[in-house]
Amino acid sequence: MTYIEPAPLQKENPLESMMQRFDVAFKLLNISPEMYDILMVPRKQVVVGLPVTMDDGSVRVFEGIRVVHSTILGPSKGGIRFDPDVNMDEVKALAAWMTWKCAVVDIPYGGAKGGIRCNPREMSKGEIERLMRAYTGAMLDVFGPDRDIPAPDMGTGENEMAWLMDEYSKAYGMTVNAVVTGKPLVLGGSLGRKEATGRGVMVSAISAMEKLRINPYRATAAVQGFGNVGSHAASLLHERGVKVVAISDVTGAYYNEKGIDIQKAMEYREKNKGLLEGFADATKISNDELLTLPVDLLVPAAKEDVITEDNAAGIQAKLIVEGANGPTSASADEIINEKGILVVPDILANAGGVTVSYFEWVQNRIGYKWTLDRINRRSDRIMKDAFDRVYQISQEYKVPMRIAAYMVAIKKVADTYKFRGGY
Ligand code: GLU
Repeated sequence: MTYIEPAPLQKENPLESMMQRFDVAFKLLNISPEMYDILMVPRKQVVVGLPVTMDDGSVRVFEGIRVVHSTILGPSKGGIRFDPDVNMDEVKALAAWMTWKCAVVDIPYGGAKGGIRCNPREMSKGEIERLMRAYTGAMLDVFGPDRDIPAPDMGTGENEMAWLMDEYSKAYGMTVNAVVTGKPLVLGGSLGRKEATGRGVMVSAISAMEKLRINPYRATAAVQGFGNVGSHAASLLHERGVKVVAISDVTGAYYNEKGIDIQKAMEYREKNKGLLEGFADATKISNDELLTLPVDLLVPAAKEDVITEDNAAGIQAKLIVEGANGPTSASADEIINEKGILVVPDILANAGGVTVSYFEWVQNRIGYKWTLDRINRRSDRIMKDAFDRVYQISQEYKVPMRIAAYMVAIKKVADTYKFRGGY
């Protein structure tokens, strides 16, 4: 057995969780120690103060972060998160995950991430727009279509990306749509981008079910998180025959053993300020109850550190497919591995989003629009190939798929650096 156990964690911290897995994969690859330092320290960490006039006339100062983890494979890529929990360690971990994610699916990008600690649910549209424009103005020399290309993440979507593109274009005196992805269709957004992460989760889940000999038409699933990723993953899994028996959001979890009508839940959420609160066709359960339901498939699709050493022992699913970034803390890895649960890790399972972001950027640069059919076919192939590659390494080295995915990613970046050096 070549698998090296990670050291125990003191507390849940996404950066530490990321580094523990990185360390294990790095040792197995036998790469030079210099490379370790190069990959451990982000290329750039920018923190800006953003004074924003609120609707009541007062001025509030927000802190905006952008971390560029690596540019070895190409311009850095990664979303912008608006969330009350945003902090530097989290953004650093998320930026590194973007590097690994792009490398795993073999697209020519480095990794970055941005964030602002704020609660968009408590802000008006105008306040959010002013905040986004201020953030873009402060990051003009960080962003760029050949430098660093942002995208949506938790708490942001096509409106924020449109404001970013507009502010950036104003500063440069011309329309620069390739500076950001996840834009509205009319501004050069791509067909299929909204569903892309959920679609990749579905492709990963179906590929893993094949390995486990689970028939999707007889399978049940619980999806934790019903935002852009979770809702589309649930809906596409449902289309493939999987019975989704539970979904959840910040208001709680909703269970129906006969299966949740996902379309109905999505429509309900749209009419109910984006929340599932009051959704009638289900029984309300707690988030922890959802995680430990006797289902075949569990899809954590919200945020980091949802599955920890405190609840991992209770998980009954045979398969976990990580729609979120970092939903399983390193402290839970051992428990999950011992239980024999197959985990398709975040840096593989949720890479469908950045893959279609890459297609959006390519379309913007060639000034052409691809059909949805072409986008889906190409992204499905990329996801399936990446799954097969990671699965094969996990068999060859007898390591969990998470460690195998890190190995594929680190090797790609290290091999590129060998030729390229420097930047
Ligand atoms: N925020 C998404 C992620 O974590 C998408 C990033 C992108 O499209 O650049 O993968």
